[in-house]
Amino acid sequence: MTTPRARGPVSRAVTGVVNAGVTPLNRMRARSVMGANRFFLLSSVVSLPWVFAIALAAPPATLAPGLTHLAMICVWVICIDLNRRQLFLSAATAGLLVPIAQFTYLASVFSVDAGFQLPLLTVGALAFVFFTPREWPAAVGMTTLATAALMWTYGGSAFEQASVELSAGHLRAFAVANVAVVVLIVSVLAWFNNYFFVRERRRNERLLAEAEVAARTDSLTEVYNRRGIAPVLSQTAREGEYCVALADLDRFKRINDRLGHGAGDVVLSHVARTLVDAVQDRGSVARWGGEEFLVVLPGMTLERGVECMDAAREALEREFGHDGVLDAVTMSVGVAHAPRHTSKDEVLRLADSKLYEAKASGRNLVVGASMGDPVP
Ligand code: GH3
Ligand code: MG
Ligand code: MG
Repeated sequence: MTTPRARGPVSRAVTGVVNAGVTPLNRMRARSVMGANRFFLLSSVVSLPWVFAIALAAPPATLAPGLTHLAMICVWVICIDLNRRQLFLSAATAGLLVPIAQFTYLASVFSVDAGFQLPLLTVGALAFVFFTPREWPAAVGMTTLATAALMWTYGGSAFEQASVELSAGHLRAFAVANVAVVVLIVSVLAWFNNYFFVRERRRNERLLAEAEVAARTDSLTEVYNRRGIAPVLSQTAREGEYCVALADLDRFKRINDRLGHGAGDVVLSHVARTLVDAVQDRGSVARWGGEEFLVVLPGMTLERGVECMDAAREALEREFGHDGVLDAVTMSVGVAHAPRHTSKDEVLRLADSKLYEAKASGRNLVVGASMGDPVP
């Protein structure tokens, strides 16, 4: 087992900010909001140096784009608050609409050569993080809007010339930075997508494995149930000779009557444990129903099968002898030996009839017979 790593204060602080606005009320919604918030945070951090770069790169006229960028960061902070108030659709809409407007505006200020229109390429992918599948019209609308804005920046005359004076070197630097932003957004999206997909798949695999074990196990005694032992019995019957034992607790009703059903349950689970310990790896134990257990013993002659079950009967007698509180708990066992490929139903019927004989002969007994034996 792995122990979870202790998280430091920085990690906790970052997670706190990233998860701001995520409420457990709507998990599906919260997930997409969490993705959106992470993006808000990431973008704010990435865009901050630009604000300074723009302000420092050229004369004061270039302060306006920087200020609108700061305004955009403010909008994202408001979006996080909207998320906290569970106004998810408004938060998602504002969180995408404002950057679309901002990047289109920046492209008009610096011309298409600076590449500020390029982040519009990522809106289609981001829309499916921001909106839930049920809000697909909003996602499609946002994608259409971003595509139209992108096409406008390449076709419109307003975007041909920069309205501020910038050197060719600065333009190139902006273009490179914008390409880097696009690559970063797409990579982060792909990474998150893969991360959640892998995590979800692992969770499903674990749940499936747990469900399969639960379906094969008796919840009270934690040994196989009927469904669980069935394939074990089939496999055993195919492999060679084997024994099947049906064990039924003696006068168990009295224990229930005296001590209550709850105490009876505790006794049943202890009996199952004692049986498993006695049989060990020589066979498999199942709860066949009520206070009856089935033991499948592969590769055993009748003699060894009876011997094994008699040892189990003795172990039970030792474990649950009179202790002043409980009556002794004993069991009667019918053992049936079968050659390879014998019909399972017939073997079980023989074991049941031997169990009946053990009960009739005074209980706390093991009685066995082989399929080939003549009927007395
Ligand atoms: P015999 O020796 O003839 O087998 O007597 P018995 O009392 O064991 O047999 P009977 O079939 O008359 O009663 C079985 C009892 O087992 C009745 C029922 O209340 C009890 N029982 C069956 N399943 C459970 C269970 O899951 N929990 C508890 N506490 N008791 C159970
Ligand atoms: Mg009984
Ligand atoms: Mg019974």
